[in-house]
Amino acid sequence: LGGSISRALQQMSNATVIDEKVLNDCLNVITRALLQSDVQFKLVRDMQTNIKTIVNLDDLAAGHNKRKIIQQAVFNELCKILDPGKPSFTPKKGKPSVIMFVGLQGSGKTTTCTKYAYYHQKKGWKPALVCADTFRAGAFDQLKQNATKAKIPFYGSYMESDPVKIAVEGVERFKEENCDLIIVDTSGRHKQEAALFEEMRQVSEATKPDLIIFVMDSSIGQAAFDQALAFKQSVAVGAVIITKMDGHAKGGGALSAVAATKSPVIFIGTGEHMDEFEVFDVKPFVSRLLGMGDLSGFMDKIHEVVPMDQQPELLQKLSEGNFTLRIMYEQFQNLLKMGPISQVFSMLPGFSSELMPKGREKESQAKIKRYMTMMDSMTNEELDSSNPKLMNESRMMRIARGSGRLVREVVEMLEEYKRLAKIWSKMKGLKIPKKGDMSAL
Ligand code: GDP
Ligand code: MG
Repeated sequence: LGGSISRALQQMSNATVIDEKVLNDCLNVITRALLQSDVQFKLVRDMQTNIKTIVNLDDLAAGHNKRKIIQQAVFNELCKILDPGKPSFTPKKGKPSVIMFVGLQGSGKTTTCTKYAYYHQKKGWKPALVCADTFRAGAFDQLKQNATKAKIPFYGSYMESDPVKIAVEGVERFKEENCDLIIVDTSGRHKQEAALFEEMRQVSEATKPDLIIFVMDSSIGQAAFDQALAFKQSVAVGAVIITKMDGHAKGGGALSAVAATKSPVIFIGTGEHMDEFEVFDVKPFVSRLLGMGDLSGFMDKIHEVVPMDQQPELLQKLSEGNFTLRIMYEQFQNLLKMGPISQVFSMLPGFSSELMPKGREKESQAKIKRYMTMMDSMTNEELDSSNPKLMNESRMMRIARGSGRLVREVVEMLEEYKRLAKIWSKMKGLKIPKKGDMSAL
């Protein structure tokens, strides 16, 4: 997708006369590419119309960077589609919230429930899981296994066949136990849709959830809009989670899900494991959708934020797939040097919402400085190794002692490293363009 869009924009920038026909041709290529990426037809068509009114032909004719102007317009339009205008309900720590998960069977609900619980548990919440899927044999066992692995309390039954009864019992029990995040997993049986939606309505009415999260498999393609709409019409969906983003799906269905439910995407699932779960961030997602995130947008940003003399080396290392602790250290240095304009880092994969949440820049900076102090106590071998097994307990203790921090903090820093390394490992095999040759992307 990124390739064909870039090509379209390239053709455009080569054209000497920018008239309406060239713009139309260009938009047609983009349209086709977005459709291939499962963005819903109507959304693409509306976007096309909007862009025509936004992009001023005179500006294009006069401006030097036509490619940038159109690319930016497409980028902004896609971001707008993903922003329903109001944030979803956010649970508060220490105050009981009931979160109900809905979605078709196989979409990844049970897995995602556990990921969601585990994510919050790590941040100090007291989550609990309730299995209100009495339809599928083995549903309770699956939830129980997941919950046990993550040490999260759970509730369910092998005997009871009434999902409403179990849901209510589970929610009541965990409220009594002062859990602050009570997660209700539901059934998603296929082929009995009317019955399924009636069941969702009843569970929702009985448990009065503070938030209903619609879980959608990213690989369902153009079916996304209708599926999301069907759930929204039976229960008050307030947020969306897109799963299996690690697969081949391009993720265009996310736009449909937001448009249909008028609710934001809050997380994405990127694997089968408990920690393969990321906070959803509109801009990097759209960059990826347009093929800009991992390539041209990312490259542009690297040229902006990484000192010129370090660029070739960094790109070379990333293309080899070696994101070492030393690279992280150097990136932290850059990040601190940039001060307030470190915002540009929001385009760099992994450096945005988690490491530097908006409005908490001070805290983030302190955290990064703390990480760097600990890394100052590391040996060259440790900094340059890409072997995760190297960092054993005695090394961690030595680092903690040397930097006057707690072992727990060293562990946290290493976890952050692992998270970034995982994201940045996708840069492996990156084709390194020469400076000034960005259009080749
Ligand atoms: P449910 O029927 O909606 O509860 O779906 P499950 O949670 O049972 O998931 C169905 C299958 O999808 C399981 O094999 C999961 O391991 C898998 N799955 C769920 N989320 C993800 C994801 O983000 N990535 C990948 N690769 N697999 C996932
Ligand atoms: Mg399930």
